[in-house]
Amino acid sequence: MPVPCVRVPREDGEAARERLADADLVDPGHEITVESGSLFIPVIAPDTVPAEYEIVHREVPARETQTMPADLLKFDPSYERLGEIVIVDEDDPERAREVAESIMTSDLPVETVVNRASKVKGQQRVREWGVLAGDGTETVHREHGCEFALDLAAVYFSPRLATERHRVVEQVRQGERAFDMFAGVGPFVIPFAKRGATTVGVDVNPDAIEYLRENARRNDVAGRVTGIEGDVREVAGEYADWADRIVMNLPHSADEFLETAVNLANDDAVIHYYDIQHEDDPYGPGERAIREVAGDEYDVVVETQRTVRSYAPHELNVVLDVRLSR
Ligand code: SAM
Repeated sequence: MPVPCVRVPREDGEAARERLADADLVDPGHEITVESGSLFIPVIAPDTVPAEYEIVHREVPARETQTMPADLLKFDPSYERLGEIVIVDEDDPERAREVAESIMTSDLPVETVVNRASKVKGQQRVREWGVLAGDGTETVHREHGCEFALDLAAVYFSPRLATERHRVVEQVRQGERAFDMFAGVGPFVIPFAKRGATTVGVDVNPDAIEYLRENARRNDVAGRVTGIEGDVREVAGEYADWADRIVMNLPHSADEFLETAVNLANDDAVIHYYDIQHEDDPYGPGERAIREVAGDEYDVVVETQRTVRSYAPHELNVVLDVRLSR
């Protein structure tokens, strides 16, 4: 069966393999192959592979030494990996049990298999999980060279946003000031700080802020990361006019926080504004809301508008990178 592979020129192969391995994207179940000057690196979760890599589907030999879940089942189950947790999305309890058993028996490095048991919900955007095998929902996940400790049952974290986060991280310059209004365990602020930014991350979830601080230490950037627990509308006051960059990843209700974001902006700032909208006009509502709040105080230029992923039938999760110049 053809599997998704990143195709790179052979001379770039090792750098690409290392980068994909850092993001836990290399498929351990298939061999890396070479043909006509190209290296083919099998990957899991091809839609989270950085956009600059070309994905092709091709037949590659299975790695003889590894037993994968599909080798133990009559079908190829879909799953995501988050550190040593494997996440599945199975409605049928019998099939869920079978999939979990095959994952635990396979050669995947796995401690726990969990099933999505609810949508992300509430102010803290935490999901309920059904533990199918193993125990414990705490893990350490690696993404683009950073490590994130987190407890899936206590905080929000989605490995599917890795490519989008990396796109934003690559815009960050040494010495800039970045403020993440909904910071979670730090998947924006930690890599920002690694690039030399001074960062502040706020979250209303105390567990998220505890992990954010731990992750700052774990990645040797504690000196450039301030974690603040609280409602960002109440705690952002002392950072008025402070930020060169503002991240707003609370897609269902970011518009309610735009006044706070504009107060945080200095004379020339970029807002990364995440939104969920109907496919007929995915960017318009966000742009209009930002223009309204920025008023006459700022010139507003939409520098990028992009679909991050499909969210539901006819609904898209989008991002706008918007520059505010006073
Ligand atoms: N930026 C992180 C990421 O990409 O993984 C987390 C994003 S998650 C969708 C949104 C986060 O915003 C949650 O961790 C939630 O606890 C936090 N949050 C919700 N309302 C908030 C508020 N009023 N002030 C601060 N944080 C808030």
